[in-house]
Amino acid sequence: MARAAEAATDRLIEMLPATDRMPVLFLGHGSPTNAIDDNEYTRALEAAAVDLPRPVAIMVVSAHWLTDSTVVTCGENPRTIHDFLGFPEELYHVTYAAPGAPSHARAALELTKLAPVACEFNWGFDHASWAPLRHMFPEADIPMFEMSLDMTKPPGFHYSLAAHLEPLRTHGVLIVGSGNIVHNLGRAHWETDAEPYQWAVEFDEIVRAKLLAGDHDALVDYKRLGPSAQLAVPTPDHYLPMLYAVGLQLPDEPLSFIYEGFQNASVSMRCLRIG
Ligand code: ZN
Repeated sequence: MARAAEAATDRLIEMLPATDRMPVLFLGHGSPTNAIDDNEYTRALEAAAVDLPRPVAIMVVSAHWLTDSTVVTCGENPRTIHDFLGFPEELYHVTYAAPGAPSHARAALELTKLAPVACEFNWGFDHASWAPLRHMFPEADIPMFEMSLDMTKPPGFHYSLAAHLEPLRTHGVLIVGSGNIVHNLGRAHWETDAEPYQWAVEFDEIVRAKLLAGDHDALVDYKRLGPSAQLAVPTPDHYLPMLYAVGLQLPDEPLSFIYEGFQNASVSMRCLRIG
């Protein structure tokens, strides 16, 4: 008995304060300019934040941190990364000075038994996290860490890995996948409000229906979701963060949409909340 009790308290997660189960989000982020814009989408993010319990920490699975293993930021003061070229000067001066969340990051890597996950100290917050979160948490006062995407792994790995992170939710962590369900920059229009392509609307609608039906197998096997899949998801990086969100959905847990819409004709800005 004593040994079991000792083992339980060795787990980092047990050392963090327990909370009610936090919701999980998937945020479409689109162009970095959304970070400084005021539009229908950014106002939807602001409104969604009002309805959230205040997180103890935030974990973002980023479409812009692509690695060949899974890593998390364990630094105390991660830097703001401006990982884009050719955008307005103002964007390069935006900082998001949220503190790091090393204790929660280390708990996350301990929980993920599917593959080794390591700490990383040089990466900071790329625009997949700070562009949407500066609308939701403009004070940047909630400790935050990022998790990378292991691009050597198939979609099912990402979906399964997410389930290991579930205990973070009952320790105050708001888990956020940040990407885009439809993301084809090769076909993008510069004009934000350009009419979306028919294939973009079609794929987004198929995914919406699968999300509402809780058909996770179909979402993982997205390449089989019809002929629009290839154009909508030409590379998996922006789609995979959504699989982390659904991978964390418990049976019968509600799913709702924070925002539905398109930008630049080929980018779905759909955002969702689970729980
Ligand atoms: Zn992006």
